[in-house]
Amino acid sequence: MPLYADRTLIIGTENAFKIGPHIVRVEFQGTPVIKMNLGEPDFSAPPWVKNEVIRNIEQDNAHYCDPKGIFTFRTAIANQVNATRGLDVTPEHVCVFPGGKPSIGFAQQIYCNPGDEVIYPSPGFPIYESFIKYVDAVPVPLHLREDYNFTFTPRQLERRITPNTKLIILNFPSNPTGGVATKDQLHAIADIILSKCRPDVRVYSDEIYENIIFDGQRHFSIAAVPGMQKRTIISSGLSKSFAWTGGRVGYAVLPTVAEADIFKKMNINYFSCIPPYNQEGAREALENPESGPWMDAMAATFEKRRDAILDKLTAIDGVTCQKPGGAFYLFPNIAKMCERLGAFEAFERMPPKVKQAASPSTLFQMFALYEHKVAVLDRRSFGAIGTENMHFLRLSIAADLETLEEGIRRIAAAGDDVDGFRRFVEKGENLYE
Ligand code: PMP
Repeated sequence: MPLYADRTLIIGTENAFKIGPHIVRVEFQGTPVIKMNLGEPDFSAPPWVKNEVIRNIEQDNAHYCDPKGIFTFRTAIANQVNATRGLDVTPEHVCVFPGGKPSIGFAQQIYCNPGDEVIYPSPGFPIYESFIKYVDAVPVPLHLREDYNFTFTPRQLERRITPNTKLIILNFPSNPTGGVATKDQLHAIADIILSKCRPDVRVYSDEIYENIIFDGQRHFSIAAVPGMQKRTIISSGLSKSFAWTGGRVGYAVLPTVAEADIFKKMNINYFSCIPPYNQEGAREALENPESGPWMDAMAATFEKRRDAILDKLTAIDGVTCQKPGGAFYLFPNIAKMCERLGAFEAFERMPPKVKQAASPSTLFQMFALYEHKVAVLDRRSFGAIGTENMHFLRLSIAADLETLEEGIRRIAAAGDDVDGFRRFVEKGENLYE
């Protein structure tokens, strides 16, 4: 009998974390790595959030609490979601989690039977695709189109909907591309869902980047389209909006109270509750009037970096890049750079083990890290199915401009280092993973 259950071997991972030990290894050899792999703002949470956490710890608010989330925080979430999306949800529709991530897997476990189809964006947050296989559902990637600023057309979605569709995952502003669908696009997408899907098909709308949005746009949620709230799970959290990734506070607003209570039951089974002192800090974040301007200032900083770095990135021979409308990532197309380096031929010569788990842009990712000391992530890190001809990188701009400029210089140097690349792949070490 095998040691592990089959599903254990299927679950994927998140390379932003997985590349960490490689970075440690490279830095151990003496040169600091420019880390453009990280998906977390390089800010620290506002003082009113930290102070509220400290105050609560000092008051010993550190015991078990409501597994659904403390009532004061759920009330703040319902108020924020209603104010920003014109909805009418109650605190009972809300469930709190340790971050935005857990509700992705929970939603798939809660709604999907084996064989049900999950439509999800690719490139997209890797946990979407990872969990689909784990719950034995069928992955139906919806490939975001570079020529549509990494959104998709209603027709693309329509073609993927079948009687087996159970869950449709959306993520705007998007990780890894920064793509933002317009209000009109979301209306058109909602029209397709309302007309083609049974009422029990759920939309999981991952809106964790809702407050990091550029060019004067405002976040629009598909749940705000008439008829959609009762089909949509709105997911968000504090990690990105308040630069509080280690606080581990996220939440979802469910279409019905009954569904929120099922998510609560998952919480009870997995972790009982989320630290109450952090929930009080999160409540303060949502309620404090200084938070709005604070988030706007952070988003403005990301927008300035985007503009400065985009120009430098696209000046590299063989690199093109769409202008992201939100989040803090750039997602350049490096196909021509891979070609110049000979990455396609090198990849073709790789043993099957490497070919199965990597791509030409993976070879570039590892080369850039080991030989040019810059950490970026490859296309496959954001959904692998059907991506054989796609050659991109994700660069995080969550660092100061000087660091980012140095990172771009190193990427450019790696892109020109044809001999170095050949030697690296011939050596055959650290080519993937
Ligand atoms: N969704 C998306 C699209 C993300 O990018 C992330 C974090 N990188 C998450 C969810 C998870 O966020 P958290 O750290 O709050 O679990």
